[in-house]
Amino acid sequence: MKSEKRVLSLAMVITALVATLIFSLISCAKRKYPFISGTSQLMGTEVNITIYPQNVEEDYDHYYQTALGAIEEVSTVASAYNEESELYQLNLSAGNESGYTVSYLLSDLLIKAREVYLLTDGAFDPSVAPLVSAYGFDYHPKTGEASQPYMPTQNEIDALLPLVDFGRVLLDEESGVVFLPKDMRLDLGAIAKGYAADLACSRVSYSVKGMMVDIGGDIAIYGERPDGEPWVVAIADPREPEKTFVELAITKNCGIATSGDYERYFEMDGVRYGHIIDPDTGFPAQWMVSVTVIAPNATMADGLATAIFVLGVEKGLFLINGLPDVSAIIYTEEDGRLIAHYSQNAKDFISKEK
Ligand code: FAD
Ligand code: MG
Repeated sequence: MKSEKRVLSLAMVITALVATLIFSLISCAKRKYPFISGTSQLMGTEVNITIYPQNVEEDYDHYYQTALGAIEEVSTVASAYNEESELYQLNLSAGNESGYTVSYLLSDLLIKAREVYLLTDGAFDPSVAPLVSAYGFDYHPKTGEASQPYMPTQNEIDALLPLVDFGRVLLDEESGVVFLPKDMRLDLGAIAKGYAADLACSRVSYSVKGMMVDIGGDIAIYGERPDGEPWVVAIADPREPEKTFVELAITKNCGIATSGDYERYFEMDGVRYGHIIDPDTGFPAQWMVSVTVIAPNATMADGLATAIFVLGVEKGLFLINGLPDVSAIIYTEEDGRLIAHYSQNAKDFISKEK
């Protein structure tokens, strides 16, 4: 009996040893690549921040808080339909001859919006706000609830089209005074999330090893993962958005944004009308299903993805192929099948495609 007992206790010692080893390996692995990540709800969508610290010993929770704070700042300033927002107040000043003085943040965001407006020959145009509201693609100022979709008549669209021309907005970069023409309204929904992701990175990137900020699919990536692996970005299947459709492997600082006809839309007589409006016609852009842009920063990627959705495949790829360091992956739909269209070197980023 005695020897049996001894064998038993030896076995127990070995099991305990193996268990500790595994545990310490896991915790060592954990300690080797510690990170902080979290999910919040802002700008009507999910915000995911992942940060790998440079110095694993320090307390790095405050990097997460600083990054989240930057996104909250943009959300407060740039919400077109929330009365407390600076952008809402700017819109109320439309027609006011003395203009409206905006904060540095909003002025910087408007300057970046103007860059994308000019680059895309007005396909990206934040002054579509009256049309966005006309289709019910805006949201309730207090609850954030999306409005009821509605198909405006041609007369209603024709009455709003003259208000759409971001080129008529005057911004004095020195003083921050913005002059908005009478009845014009701006909606920065197509660039503010990318801008917020970039701002979050810029506020902490100087002292972290790597970070990824994802605001409803508008993503900013900075630095490296400690395991040396690429950052993996999943693009949703436009027809089954809960599934991943394409995976990108990212190994450089950049921004990635996707615009789709599946985010916010309604169907009428079998036709899908999405929330991206063609500023020329006043109608929701047709024929495109999903546009993903990889650009040097998320602000540019966000605005360009929306613009290409309006421009269509040919003009969109022509624009992108003329821009250094920008790639695009476009999906259209023909007879129920998704057709992929790639810009130069877009395929270099694709690690998996359905
Ligand atoms: P993108 O393609 O990036 O943007 C499409 C959006 O841009 C459209 O929804 C429209 O608003 C606008 N747009 C349409 N056509 C054009 C065009 N040709 N040029 C320029 N812009 C165009 N949603 C809610 O439901 N509730 C909220 O409380 C809420 N709060 C928000 C607060 C902020 C600060 C921001 C920036 C957005 C908020 N949103 C909210 C989301 C917003 O309403 C848009 O749906 C969202 O930004 C669209 O982003 P996207 O990446 O899906 O599409
Ligand atoms: Mg976007």
